[in-house]
Amino acid sequence: MLEDLKPPVKTFPCRVRTIASELSEEDSDIFVNAINDHASWSVKALETELRARGVRVSEKAISNHRKQRCSCA
Ligand SMILES: [Zn+2]
Repeated sequence: MLEDLKPPVKTFPCRVRTIASELSEEDSDIFVNAINDHASWSVKALETELRARGVRVSEKAISNHRKQRCSCA
């Protein structure tokens, strides 16, 4: 009766991927590189600098993407 009982899969729609798809190819490359550059970019710094340039992405979204807790994983 419970053969198909499974924990719910938590996937978050990925804002990072959505934004990357909306940017120009050049901007998208820069954006994705910064997101993946854990050494140079803290989540907080990235969120702040992106917002200053008109790109709204929450720290949570960046953090989830980096931890592969989003729908990209
Ligand atoms: Zn993602």
